[in-house]
Amino acid sequence: SRLLRIGLIPGDGIGREVIPAGRRILEALPSSLGLRFEFADLHAGFETFEKTGAALPDRTVDVLRGECDGALFGAVSSPSKAVRGYSSPIVALRKKLDLYANVRPVKSVRGDAARKPIDMVIVRENTEDLYVKEEKTFDRPESEGGKYAEAIKRISERASSRIATMAGEIALRRQKIRESSPPGSSIHERPLVTITHKSNVLSQTDGLFRTACRAALSAPEFAGAVAVEEQIVDSMVYKLFRQPEAYDVIVAPNLYGDILSDGAAALVGSLGLVPSANVGEGFAIGEPCHGSAPDIEGKGIANPVATLRSTALMLEFLGEEEAAAKIYAAVDASLEEGRLLTPDLGGRATTEEVVVDILKRL
Ligand code: NAD
Ligand code: MN
Repeated sequence: SRLLRIGLIPGDGIGREVIPAGRRILEALPSSLGLRFEFADLHAGFETFEKTGAALPDRTVDVLRGECDGALFGAVSSPSKAVRGYSSPIVALRKKLDLYANVRPVKSVRGDAARKPIDMVIVRENTEDLYVKEEKTFDRPESEGGKYAEAIKRISERASSRIATMAGEIALRRQKIRESSPPGSSIHERPLVTITHKSNVLSQTDGLFRTACRAALSAPEFAGAVAVEEQIVDSMVYKLFRQPEAYDVIVAPNLYGDILSDGAAALVGSLGLVPSANVGEGFAIGEPCHGSAPDIEGKGIANPVATLRSTALMLEFLGEEEAAAKIYAAVDASLEEGRLLTPDLGGRATTEEVVVDILKRL
């Protein structure tokens, strides 16, 4: 059997109420899958910062690097005003572990007649673009227009190509899952990757992103198997809102990916449903998209679905697709039945009731 060592970083607020659900679903996976798990309880976040002076203690990074195969990260609270010495631990973790992709599947609940069927994955480049944070402010005499600021937008062939390759691999993997699911259970018939950019204006930077993605997706493993199209980012937003069912896998540079993925999450009804994974070579951190939700903290009503789906997503990137599929199926079945829903979905169930219901369906 395979041993997977998983770091658990609940963080702040409802992170502490949902991350235990991730651990429980891993422990409840059928033994026929041949997986064993060991867990390391790790700290990060604002409360950790207030207690220890570090939002991301060295020990957390060392244990993840040295002793773990993957991790689950809950959420952290950011102070509303800048606090000296505090910066976001998840951003630091992505850097330190070179987690170069942020992957966010957005899927509607089947049978939710109020919404269009949606089943897409946004694959966001996570290391460059405007987020290299090389900004500068210049003083200039008022007569010449006054103060101005600039930021570097950096796009490399290497980073663009590897993110496109990951998008292509995800598209193929989704196809494999579709082929082994009952007919009619998916809204897509064949794998499609949509490259998002603004190369009509930014011909050098986004132009490079576009050509590097095109080149990567014409590799033999994808040619013929994955359809590739492009979409200028502004019209992408328009189509995403009007016709979300048209998208399968979307690949985007950092900034557009950030914006598109939050926007797409709004299409399915609750932040409590949407998972993500931060992925690098041989390491993945599953992370629900929501924050620490101070308004519902301590009430026992946080929706655990985003975390359970993030747990499955982490497993997928650790090569355990079958285990991941079991979790997705259990979550979907529970949501489709719709008997036990947390208040964010209009129900009255508690976190615990939803977790127990999903565990039963494994
Ligand atoms: P939020 O995601 O915490 O909450 C937004 C709304 O969605 C709230 O009404 C909340 O109750 C609801 N919600 C979120 N997750 C839910 C769940 N699982 N079940 C049910 N309802 C859920 O965003 P916010 O209120 O803007 O931010 C709160 C704190 O979280 C801030 O300190 C912010 O900086 C931080 N934050 C952290 C992350 C992260 O760690 N990745 C992301 C966003 C916000
Ligand atoms: Mn964002």
